Amino acid sequence: MSAPDLLVVRGLVAGYGATPVLRAVDLTVPAGTIAAVVGANGAGKTTLLRALSGMIRPAAGQVLLAGEDLRGTPVEQLVRRGMAHVPEGRGVISELTVDENLRLGGLWRRDRADAGRALDEVYELFEPLARRRRHLGHQLSGGERQMLALGRALVGRPRLLLLDEPSLGLAPRVVARTMALLRQLRDRTGLTVLLVEQNVRSALAVADQGVVMSLGRVVVAAPAATLRDDDDLRHAYLGF
Ligand code: ATP
Repeated sequence: MSAPDLLVVRGLVAGYGATPVLRAVDLTVPAGTIAAVVGANGAGKTTLLRALSGMIRPAAGQVLLAGEDLRGTPVEQLVRRGMAHVPEGRGVISELTVDENLRLGGLWRRDRADAGRALDEVYELFEPLARRRRHLGHQLSGGERQMLALGRALVGRPRLLLLDEPSLGLAPRVVARTMALLRQLRDRTGLTVLLVEQNVRSALAVADQGVVMSLGRVVVAAPAATLRDDDDLRHAYLGF
């Protein structure tokens, strides 16, 4: 039997002020899978993540997380329900230490013991962070900041990770490591990931599903391998 859908988006409309960006997005992400959202600049990928995580309020449409309608749910409740958003630019706090940044990710959790365990697991997963526990955010390299932002989200033990451009500004080696880590988290913990990427090849290599956006809509959703290997689809929608 296939996995139940963790995220279902129907007819989602959202934008900034009077300007619509998402014009009716439909999307389904099964639990324990990685979906890569790709598409030209300005297609609305970042806006989709913002609308899902409550950073902007959708004008219409429906978002279901594990079957629960999220309409009107306050942002902090979205986090409690298992949604974590790692925005583009990552939002690491420069003046706090690595340890303080990571602990922020678990502050809201009532189960303090498990928040502590989750923190230890993140240190195991990201060994460079463990070595730099007391370094300040601004002392880290780009790759380490990316790890820190991802680690902070994981301390909250999300069910759904919304990840915006994790490869931006990173060396290919670091990108490969980040992608491998996402697969590992999916396989070991059943994490579900919605990954926005400019780096289409890396994204489709790691993803189960490829989602192509254009002008505020999903124009293709297909197994990532199909998008990767079908020359016609690739030429038509990805331009290579
Ligand atoms: P990119 O990879 O370039 O970020 P994208 O597919 O993620 O592309 P979005 O960032 O979602 O696209 O942008 C979609 C449209 O929304 C663009 O026309 C952009 O100019 C506009 N937009 C993005 N952020 C804002 C904002 N804060 N206020 C107003 N318009 C915005």
